[in-house]
Amino acid sequence: MSAIIAEQTKGTGAELIRTGLFGREILASRSPWLHESEGGAQSLDLTYTLFDFTARNWADWDLRAHLRNVQDAGFAGVNVTHPFKQDVVPLLDALAASAQSVGAVNTVRFLDGAMIGHNTDVTGFAKSMRHGLPGAKLDQIVQFGAGGGGSATALALLSLGTQRLVLVDPDEIRSSALAARLKDAYPEAEIACRSALGASLAGVDGIVNATPIGMAGHPGTALDTALLSSDLWVADIVYFPLETPLLREARAHGCHTLDGRGMAVFQAADAFEIFTGVAANVERMLSNFDAFARDTAA
Ligand code: NAD
Repeated sequence: MSAIIAEQTKGTGAELIRTGLFGREILASRSPWLHESEGGAQSLDLTYTLFDFTARNWADWDLRAHLRNVQDAGFAGVNVTHPFKQDVVPLLDALAASAQSVGAVNTVRFLDGAMIGHNTDVTGFAKSMRHGLPGAKLDQIVQFGAGGGGSATALALLSLGTQRLVLVDPDEIRSSALAARLKDAYPEAEIACRSALGASLAGVDGIVNATPIGMAGHPGTALDTALLSSDLWVADIVYFPLETPLLREARAHGCHTLDGRGMAVFQAADAFEIFTGVAANVERMLSNFDAFARDTAA
């Protein structure tokens, strides 16, 4: 624990707000930059520390102990990412509705001795949809991927009014479990699971890619892009890179598109507010996200 406290000494006299991220392989995360630059712009003395379990040689089963350590060290809260978004749930004292519905947490707030779980991926994707695809028809949607990200986007879509959602994922146990949770939250919605997409997208308003396909390590697209047509919108939550082959093809077909930047920034903005009690300036965070992408590409 002393190592954690020793890293957190850059206070300038104002109350220090300590935050961070728990996960594996997270050393390239943009979150420290996003949170610390927004904190600085709001004259808050905020630090954001990466707790990379791989780099620190920490075991998964020590998650509870490390959470307790940062809580005892006075942290306001931490974000949680792969592979802990579900594992962290039973360690918490209470869950916000979004986290309860998907059974996953990406933000833990330490408050009055309690650990409270939130899922700002859900609220972040909903806000990104409204911001980036305003007025898009949302009645019938096909979503590829029912994992951590896909659980959040599916719940967000239902919260925005989607009535028919088809979850396409070769892991049908996973997609069925997600569909059952979503049905509990939205019993009126029609939710279907498929191991693969059929031959047509007739009647569908939009498509969401919540698989890793399109990342450098997972090239290609989750669907046959010959099925795309200009009356569809296409959202991809992959953000390394932002310009995925799916989005490129969708634009070539005349579709409206949404990349993963909005979800990444809006989830961070919502987490910032949970940690600090102060609303983030989302437009500034979007520009800071772009500046970080430019700097790291240079
Ligand atoms: P995950 O491993 O939890 O889930 C991925 C799911 O995709 C799995 O269930 C897998 O079976 C399914 N899948 C794989 N290939 C498929 C295919 N061809 N068709 C249909 N389903 C397929 O991963 P995750 O955490 O959900 O992340 C997925 C992607 O979303 C990653 O690129 C991640 O970086 C991104 N993501 C972005 C944000 C954001 O803020 N923009 C947030 C969360 C995740």
